[in-house]
Amino acid sequence: MSSVARTFGSPQPDRLPAWSRDGAEVASDFSVTPSTGLDPSEAARRRAETGPNRLAEAKPLPSWVMFLRQFASPLLIILIAGSMVSALTGHRVDAVAILAIAIFNAFVTHWQEHKAAQSLAALRRMSAPWACVRRGGRPVEIPAADIVPGDILIVKAGDILAADIRFLVASRVQVNESTLTGESEPVDKQADPIPGEDVALADRSNMGLMSTQVTGGSGEGIVVGTGMDTEVGRIADLMTAAKEPKTPLQLKIGVLSRVLVVAALIVVAIVIGVGVINGMGTSEMLNTAISLSVAAIPEGLPTVVTIVLTLGARNMAASNALARRLSSVETLGSTSVICTDKTGTLTQNQMQVMRCWVAGKRWDVTGEGFYPEGAFVDAAGTAAEIDTEPDLREMLSVSALCNDAQLVEADGRPAILGNPTEGALVVAAAKVGISRQKMLEAKVQILRRFPFDATRKMMSVVMRFPDGRTVLGIKGAPDVLLSRSSHLRIAGETLEMAPAHRDAVEAVIASFASEGLRTLAVAIRDLSAKEPDQGNPEKKLVLLGIYGIMDPPRAEVPGAVAEARRAGIRTVMITGDHAVTARAIAGQIGIRTGTAQTVHKGVELDLMSDENLTSVVRHAAVFARVTPEHKLRIVRALQRNGEVTAMTGDGVNDAPALRAADIGVAMGLSGTQVGKDSAALVLLDDNFATIVTAVREGRRIYDNLLKFIRQELTANVAEVTTILFAFLLMGANPLLPVTPLMILWVNLVSDGLPALTLGFEAAEPDLMSRPPRPRNEDFFAAGMKERILIRGTLVGLLTFYVFRVFLEQGATLDHARTAAFMTLIFAQIWHVFDARTTTTLFRKSPLGNRTLLGAVAASILLSLLATYTGAGHVVLGTASLPLPHLVGTFFLASLPTLLLSGIKEVFGVTWL
Ligand code: ATP
Repeated sequence: MSSVARTFGSPQPDRLPAWSRDGAEVASDFSVTPSTGLDPSEAARRRAETGPNRLAEAKPLPSWVMFLRQFASPLLIILIAGSMVSALTGHRVDAVAILAIAIFNAFVTHWQEHKAAQSLAALRRMSAPWACVRRGGRPVEIPAADIVPGDILIVKAGDILAADIRFLVASRVQVNESTLTGESEPVDKQADPIPGEDVALADRSNMGLMSTQVTGGSGEGIVVGTGMDTEVGRIADLMTAAKEPKTPLQLKIGVLSRVLVVAALIVVAIVIGVGVINGMGTSEMLNTAISLSVAAIPEGLPTVVTIVLTLGARNMAASNALARRLSSVETLGSTSVICTDKTGTLTQNQMQVMRCWVAGKRWDVTGEGFYPEGAFVDAAGTAAEIDTEPDLREMLSVSALCNDAQLVEADGRPAILGNPTEGALVVAAAKVGISRQKMLEAKVQILRRFPFDATRKMMSVVMRFPDGRTVLGIKGAPDVLLSRSSHLRIAGETLEMAPAHRDAVEAVIASFASEGLRTLAVAIRDLSAKEPDQGNPEKKLVLLGIYGIMDPPRAEVPGAVAEARRAGIRTVMITGDHAVTARAIAGQIGIRTGTAQTVHKGVELDLMSDENLTSVVRHAAVFARVTPEHKLRIVRALQRNGEVTAMTGDGVNDAPALRAADIGVAMGLSGTQVGKDSAALVLLDDNFATIVTAVREGRRIYDNLLKFIRQELTANVAEVTTILFAFLLMGANPLLPVTPLMILWVNLVSDGLPALTLGFEAAEPDLMSRPPRPRNEDFFAAGMKERILIRGTLVGLLTFYVFRVFLEQGATLDHARTAAFMTLIFAQIWHVFDARTTTTLFRKSPLGNRTLLGAVAASILLSLLATYTGAGHVVLGTASLPLPHLVGTFFLASLPTLLLSGIKEVFGVTWL
């Protein structure tokens, strides 16, 4: 700390550490006034001097090392072995060509992986942390990397501390420092100096350390260390760049590639064995062995899977869904339940007080949005004169004081800084001229604050009035406050709460809630008179009144809920709000709450065993008055039923549920850093509809990956069977129908190119009307295996047949091979039009995917060049085919696809 402090403050070599000095002294060391923070230009100057506030990462491996690593793949080893064998058996052109292809392939794969890594890094940067600092007298949100020593960092529950700070204000701040001190319980923070220079890290209760989590309260402090000049920076080994874990599909593809390599080696052993017994020439035999191994391995598969997933993640980010892991792109496609918060995700979070009940009287509140204009109108239509309504005045005053929100102007319109529920109360009070500012100017003091917490469901402040009274002001969920209230304010008098009063209040709550309004109660307690249980003042309250606050559903949500239902995905609302409000809003957006069994309250969950909950979550549609802790139980119960669960959350306490869910979804705008760090998906617009969009995209990407896998593997099967048919059906001295280089050409160029563009296929029409894909479903399921084997074998048979007929008709070997080569190419091109749909090519316009058409055109052109140019003849061993032969192979090659898809259409054989 001290080195940086010296740069900005007055140098004092023997200065004491920040924790042992008074806050004001530390502020002067860093040349900052806490109430205004640094001047933006001074902050910029310091930023240039200290560099970004980031822990240094280990340098990534140099590019050439990454390139050389490609050569450890089984494919490249086989290709290089093939090239060496070709060289030894005198096929020099083949040897050079295979080696060139191997190097080219390594280069392309390396380049694609590099691009994919860059895209991922860009996505990660989008979720980089932000922090709130005071600069130029105002709180501003800045990227955490731009924090400088001397900044005043404003922190609240849910933040991950972005730098080392010395607390100046700490209101019930608790920090989990387990990553640095090993202490697993959160520790309390305070702002007073701690004497002594040798204070252990864990005992520096007025310091906040970078990368630790604020789990409760709020406060602010001076940044005393950034980047590597922090406690974590000092002890951290250089952080290694986070490595993206492989997705289930990538792992399966990896296994498949290895299985295919082993299978190829076994077939090669058999071929050599049989060849030796039959007295086949060594050169032929080795050539066959190379062809087989090259044919059996789907070269592009692993890379393309990564690329398609990365492209998918990029598309999703463009529609406001930031996938923090590639595997979530995949898992999203099989989501079967979406558990979502209500406020802000399903609703607009544009809170407005519509009704108010105070001292037995109901008021309707007029006005628009956050404009502080409007009135409190009673049943007779008379607007309230605030000076003649002391109860209303008291309720609005307490609401404005027990409040952290601010009414500001943004773009010429009123806007709320802070919590929208509190903002609605600020606006309501402002309509009759009551504001916190005015009260503070009139010498009302706030002595203590107990911030809102979703588990307690209330917030309170201790206030001192100019007349000397000390009063606790409290607002929160009405059922919670009602259960803590012993009295009620009626017509300026404080009456003991009789059962009839309680019933009346409950009726008001129910009537507001049934309109879909959020309800909030306000209560006070006079603390001036000393009473025995002063330790916990949040009871024996005097209830002042109830608000009914409107928070309309987002317009796009009903459509998204309906779309999810058609796609077999259940939407479950999990809210801290009142059950009746929750049910009303659920009804408005189309979440079905037909029976009482579908709405459950948090208190019921407390009484339920895990087994009971497991059966309850089968039909539940709404959970109301839940705490974040319930969310974890709900996720686990759903998972026990085999559901793939997406769960939204924003606060610190939501983190365990977000981590446990298959897809934890955090809020990008209103969520906490801890929430975002725990989630797999971050919604940049906090909108439920975005989750459904992401699911749709996840399904499309998975569909397209399957299409790509089908196209690639069909080519591999076709190539292997072509060679095997020759080997089995041509007697003792079989000839190879296609050379190893021709096979490589098909895999990497003529088939590989169009196959790649399957990633760009638009969504299938039934994409969101079929049930979710079961978790861990094998990609060979649903007829895929049969389709690949049958179609591949038929193409192999046809290719061999063409080769044989040409030979029998007296064609030269090169000529017959070229005819077989073109048959294979054309057959795969016909097949790609079938592979692009889960139905058949007869049902999808061939013009739908422009990129595919371009790739097919390029593939045909390149293959014609390979056939009709001297270079092609030398390298690939092709011969110029007469035009009728070329046209003939084109139409013959359509047979496997047209025949099999025809049968599929006519007889409805789905697996074909
Ligand atoms: P969701 O869980 O869907 O986001 P929610 O915002 O209603 O819904 P919580 O934030 O847990 O859930 O709030 C629960 C209840 O606490 C609210 O219904 C309201 O009565 C009360 N409440 C909300 N915000 C505040 C606040 N700032 N101060 C006091 N009480 C509040």
